[in-house]
Amino acid sequence: MANNRNAPCSCGSKQKFKKCCGNPATLAVKRREDNEKFIAQVQAKAAEREKADAEAKKAGKNTRPLSPLMAAAMMAAVLYPLDGGGRLR
Ligand SMILES: [Zn+2]
Repeated sequence: MANNRNAPCSCGSKQKFKKCCGNPATLAVKRREDNEKFIAQVQAKAAEREKADAEAKKAGKNTRPLSPLMAAAMMAAVLYPLDGGGRLR
């Protein structure tokens, strides 16, 4: 592929690729935002499930065990907590 770092970025920002999605700092921010979005989703789901399980327990029902995927996702949320401070390094 030809060098198109000076071409307009394909994301529609009207900036040059090298200043937009081709910029490592931009990529790092985007990746962090994606991570945070994912973690927030997982945390919301986990909280929902915890609530549902607590209610099921109260009602005397058997609770479902945590799926390995959910357990791993919760672990990730603990290991990579949201700092909200824009820390990149
Ligand atoms: Zn872009």
